[in-house]
Amino acid sequence: MKLPARRYAIGLTGGIGSGKSTVANLFAGHGVAVIDTDVIAHQLTAAGGVAMKAIAAQFGTAYVTADGAMDRARMRDRVFAEPGAKRALEAILHPLIGTELERAAAHAEGPYLMFAVPLLVESGRWRERVARILVVDCPESVQIERVRQRNGFDVAQIHAILATQASRAQRRAAADDVIDNTGDFAALTDAVAHLHANYCAAAARLA
Ligand code: ADP
Repeated sequence: MKLPARRYAIGLTGGIGSGKSTVANLFAGHGVAVIDTDVIAHQLTAAGGVAMKAIAAQFGTAYVTADGAMDRARMRDRVFAEPGAKRALEAILHPLIGTELERAAAHAEGPYLMFAVPLLVESGRWRERVARILVVDCPESVQIERVRQRNGFDVAQIHAILATQASRAQRRAAADDVIDNTGDFAALTDAVAHLHANYCAAAARLA
């Protein structure tokens, strides 16, 4: 993926339940153009999505719901159980996501760009594409409790997901900036406002 020249860009990431989406929404509230790879992947695999033909061809119609979307629960089980299936799904989705990211970045307004990427650290392809990596961090116990409440998953399911993601230490080692989201929403709002001011200043210096 090529970013538009001289556009200041931040990569936002964090483990499941750390508060990435909440942070992304707070930045968007400041007028930042937030481009979310999860949202793009969802659109590609929704009913009539661009990836659906290839997914049906690769995995069979058993992985397509009656209305033509990817059967997420079924696919989640399959890729968990079978690394080859995970790679096959990624081979379909990654190039399409790349194209959509470029398109979204080219049309984005606002003082700077923010890419929200759940597996940014794991993918290793983002470092050269963003000026700074921002990690949302909190203790695993807090992640687990938030995901339990949000998704109704049991603790074993959440541990299984955590095991597929980078560790807190790996994510923190890759970070230029860290938001500690152990506190309440007010603390989070303040942390975002502070970073936003820094990023605006850096983007203005680049312009
Ligand atoms: P992620 O996108 O990293 O999976 P979310 O932003 O969806 O995480 O946050 C996970 C859950 O925790 C959501 O239900 C969200 O409302 C809640 N949450 C996030 N940050 C806080 C916070 N500081 N205090 C209380 N609840 C929070």
